[in-house]
Amino acid sequence: MKKEITRRNFVNRTIGASAGVFVLPALTGFTKQERTKGIKPLIITSHTNDTGQKAIETGWEILKNGGSAVDAVEKAANIIELDAEDTSVGYGGLPNENGVVQLDSSFMDGKTYSAGAVACLENIKTPSSVARIVMQHTDHVLLVGAGALQFAKAWGFQEENLLTEKARKIWLRWKEELSPTDDWGVPEHLQNLKKNESYWHDFPDIEHHYGTTNVLAIDMNGDIAGCTTTSGLSFKINGRVGDSPIIGAGLYVDNEVGAAGATGRGEDVIKSCASYYIVLKMKEGRTPQQACEDALQMIVDRYRKVNPDFFPGEKFVAINKYGDLGCATMKGNRKPQMSVRVDKGFSRYDGKIAFEGK
Ligand code: ASP
Repeated sequence: MKKEITRRNFVNRTIGASAGVFVLPALTGFTKQERTKGIKPLIITSHTNDTGQKAIETGWEILKNGGSAVDAVEKAANIIELDAEDTSVGYGGLPNENGVVQLDSSFMDGKTYSAGAVACLENIKTPSSVARIVMQHTDHVLLVGAGALQFAKAWGFQEENLLTEKARKIWLRWKEELSPTDDWGVPEHLQNLKKNESYWHDFPDIEHHYGTTNVLAIDMNGDIAGCTTTSGLSFKINGRVGDSPIIGAGLYVDNEVGAAGATGRGEDVIKSCASYYIVLKMKEGRTPQQACEDALQMIVDRYRKVNPDFFPGEKFVAINKYGDLGCATMKGNRKPQMSVRVDKGFSRYDGKIAFEGK
């Protein structure tokens, strides 16, 4: 028997899922004293699984040998993109409603104030590398769809099938469960949230349908770079672009300040220009942790007028140029974390759930 659910309920319940494994005591980047001694390298990712660790260890090797933040970020992001088991980023990512994997990615270099991005890119496993080339070898910032693919192919990227068996099966399951009365519905913040709650219980066996990764790094010269890369919201409408490839939304980097990245409901992140806002707040003197929480507050304040009970599912990560860290998400999501590599070693930084008591 068909379950009475809507497509939107299905995708909304994916918020908050991530692949956390075990937790080590958090390092806090640099101490105050170390700040005055000079800048040390640092790399973080919002991915907290083993692949996330492998990714930043790879980036760390580059940084510790004096390599650039841009190189470290790209190589780290590639590791996560190439993980076929990860259904949220790159190869193996969950497809759109037509069963086609469409990837979004952005790159920003604080040293040169350059940015590049691709959206709805099909058949290329490492969209972050294409975004980096857009950033470094064109005067444009964002290429989409067929144009992005044509560009990637011109740079020697091979077209490959990105839909793994695992992702295809999950997509088929989604199709099977579609309600005959289905439609895309109104925006999430105007929906009845209780209805969404019941949905999750209907799908206990499906892992996560959503996810993205942010990678941010500072190199030995103090230059900062960042990348956000994703397969986006699963089962999205063909052509839907999330926040990840939008500079200022899913990613922002300023060499004089720091960097920020977002995961979660991209629609909120686009409307709030959240990563830019976080960097702006850090510029005003807020710590990365405070700035991430400020961005959540700003979004909730906007929604308060239309739905006081709505707490969307964003997760923000941020670093400042001193190596301070920040990570926060909304009430209703699991405790936010990020993976961190500095010269003291690898750790997982525990962020904060905003509005938990409210
Ligand atoms: N922000 C991504 C998007 O909206 C999804 C995610 O982070 O899971 O496409």
